[in-house]
Amino acid sequence: MQLLSGKSALVTGATRGIGRGIALEFAKNGANVAFTYRSSGEAADSLTREIEALGVKALGIQSDAGSMESTEAVINAMVAAFGAIDIIVNNAGITKDNLLMRMSEEQFNEVIQTNLNSVFNTTKASMRQLLKQRSGSYINISSVVGLTGNAGQANYAASKAGMIGFTKSVAKELASRGIRANVVCPGFIATEMTEAVAEEEVKKWLENVPLKRPGTPKDVADLCVFLGSDLSTYITGQVINVDGGMVM
Ligand code: NAP
Repeated sequence: MQLLSGKSALVTGATRGIGRGIALEFAKNGANVAFTYRSSGEAADSLTREIEALGVKALGIQSDAGSMESTEAVINAMVAAFGAIDIIVNNAGITKDNLLMRMSEEQFNEVIQTNLNSVFNTTKASMRQLLKQRSGSYINISSVVGLTGNAGQANYAASKAGMIGFTKSVAKELASRGIRANVVCPGFIATEMTEAVAEEEVKKWLENVPLKRPGTPKDVADLCVFLGSDLSTYITGQVINVDGGMVM
């Protein structure tokens, strides 16, 4: 069954990892998919071909999620190409880990700009269109670290916790217009981002996962399909973990 048939979705930061998984799962479920990336042009071209091969439209746009100007251009291009925006997944994110003692102001600001300001940018730039449609689903990819904190990730945890407060406020502001906003908190998902984590650290994380395996991008994408679909029209302002039970 195609759960997103006839819908148009935007996924930020989709050339690899979780974003790529979400873009492909959306396409398999019948959605036209626009996506952004910062630098991986070749990966973007190959994702475009994979999405189109699934029989839906694809639109890959190079854009820095942390820039409002560039985000406005993405929203305008998407409306011009697809005529509507039904689902927005704020997925683009980075880490710049360091113990607080050694963390530079630049490392702090860069992570907040990319992970949190980006969510403000996309929401602000798209909300006029969603209000006009009187429908839409914002899905913001946070992290369990935004709930628990993590040594060496004060910048990242602050950005991910910030997304939660932001999303709940958006959910309250826009609910009366039929627009929903929810947060997805992945746990330990096998992607390039987690490849950078030291083996010892990975072992420690996995010891705390009751389901005893790392997650996959598809595990996260399946929840996003649900939150973007009409199966979740009574769900807004929620924070849902996809973490094998790590945080409960
Ligand atoms: P990833 O493998 O590092 O991929 C990140 C994607 O975001 C890439 O496509 C990258 O494109 C894009 N990107 C980075 N900065 C961008 C920017 N400023 N503007 C536009 N695109 C940008 O990361 P991931 O593991 O899939 O994580 C995706 C999201 O899930 C992130 O928000 C992350 O914090 C969250 N998350 C991940 C995990 C995990 O275990 N992996 C756990 C919890 C939460 P370019 O290469 O072109 O820059």
